[in-house]
Amino acid sequence: MMDAASLERALAAWREALGPEAVVTGEALRHLQRTLRPVEPEACAALRPADTEGVRAALAIAAAHGVTLHPVSRGLNWGYGAARPPRTAVILSMERLDRIRNLDEDLAWVELEAGVRFCDLDEALRACARDFLPVRTGGPATGSVVGNTLVRGLGAGRVMDRAAEVLGLEVLLADGRLVRIPGGGPAGRAPLGPDLRGVFFQGALGVVTAMTLKVTPAPALVRPFQFRLRDDAALVRFVDALRPLQQSGVRMAIRAINDLHELMMRGPYPFADARRETPLPPRLRAALARRWGGARWAILGELHADSEGELAALEERMEILMVEGAERFRWLEPVPGRALLERSLRDGLAMVWWRHDGARAPDALPVDAPNGLVWVAPVLPHRGADVAEASRLAEAVAAAHALEASISLRFVDGRVLIAIIGLVFDRAVEGADANALAAHGALSGALAAKGWTPYRPAVGASSFRDADEHDLTDELRRALDPVGLLARSTDRGP
Ligand SMILES: Cc1cc2nc3c(=O)[nH]c(=O)nc-3n(C[C@H](O)[C@H](O)[C@H](O)COP(=O)(O)OP(=O)(O)OC[C@H]3O[C@@H](n4cnc5c(N)ncnc54)[C@H](O)[C@@H]3O)c2cc1C
Repeated sequence: MMDAASLERALAAWREALGPEAVVTGEALRHLQRTLRPVEPEACAALRPADTEGVRAALAIAAAHGVTLHPVSRGLNWGYGAARPPRTAVILSMERLDRIRNLDEDLAWVELEAGVRFCDLDEALRACARDFLPVRTGGPATGSVVGNTLVRGLGAGRVMDRAAEVLGLEVLLADGRLVRIPGGGPAGRAPLGPDLRGVFFQGALGVVTAMTLKVTPAPALVRPFQFRLRDDAALVRFVDALRPLQQSGVRMAIRAINDLHELMMRGPYPFADARRETPLPPRLRAALARRWGGARWAILGELHADSEGELAALEERMEILMVEGAERFRWLEPVPGRALLERSLRDGLAMVWWRHDGARAPDALPVDAPNGLVWVAPVLPHRGADVAEASRLAEAVAAAHALEASISLRFVDGRVLIAIIGLVFDRAVEGADANALAAHGALSGALAAKGWTPYRPAVGASSFRDADEHDLTDELRRALDPVGLLARSTDRGP
């Protein structure tokens, strides 16, 4: 537990060692901590060291004064707690470590410092002689590739599980040692012996200063497609039909979104038609969905192939997805693979304005919106019945709290999928924050009772971790960070 006097001494030492511009307090700190998810506690300061040596110095001073640090890369973890720490701490931001150290086009890997943003990597990939797939998410383009990967964030497009693409890490341990995992250079070799990379995901058992990541060569051809599923019965059939296709490793990107997600993305909330009633009345929801024939789910995908012949064969295999209740199938024109990187970055941030009675200002960030957002994101078995059950639960709990459940299903590999359930709420309404947290707790609990736990942690939420795994992680923590210098996302309280 840190006291005010120790914190003051630490702040003075950080200003001296890192320069005053690296120590953030006051209004700038408040700005940095804006969050869509109503959580406490707040950080008491933030540090922005300029390089790895600065990060090491920040750790040493924190250790000397008994101050806890919360490492983030860019801190845009919106809907999960943003830059907020799980317990009273000082934010340690990597935003100034923003160099792309190496991009090896032949071996198809890139070494990034933790502050490199998705838009920076996009630019570097566009400058390559070779064509690569973009590295993106549905979230902010100004988010950190490393930070997002460390929480096992979900990619947009074919490479969804980017954490599985990590070749190596550079980590500063709590005792100040800088280690490269595995040793032997950026993409030097596969680990010999135990693979320690996973230890540093979602754990804050060290501060990751850089990461080496595979980049994926673009295919010659990409063919986008979309269709609709009339109802949940069609969803069940579709999910089951997709399973063997994905397990066989077909090169494709595919996701499903419910009608509410689509309405939220198109926004704004139809306050006039709803006569200011919230949540969206069922008859109005049905009337709005009639724009696309009244279907409950949209399927959005693309096939990747290296020749016209391969593409034609893949297209034929897609017929298996045309289950009863699938309608309005549409192939879009094939495009060369490099076109994906040339497309402008389109994020999915518009949905945050859904319950807001006014348009989004150009380039406004979700944290500028008067709304809040919490995610419930369970891992589900890739089985139609389970997916339909989870989506029914989401709708029921949201309705019980006068909220709408936006659902996006991310199909990972034909074994599991991740349901991203978003609850957007109007923070101007009294009690809205507490209501959203209650909905989050009720839905997370109901899903966990079925064995469907979240794929990533959220500040202030239950961790649902298996007891044995918990003990083992604690043992590792005691070995790597005996005094608890680094706050873990599953920590609670002051
Ligand atoms: C509308 C909307 C859509 C979104 N869509 C997506 C999506 O499609 N996919 C997705 O994944 N997310 C999505 N997000 C969530 C979030 O905004 C992104 O995941 C974002 O990239 C996370 O912020 P960041 O990259 O700055 O990571 P950070 O906030 O920097 O890091 C996240 C966490 O990782 C740990 N961490 C970070 N850096 C370090 C480090 N150097 N050392 C040790 N631990 C560290 C910390 O626990 C930190 O809290 C969305 C959010 C919104 C609002």
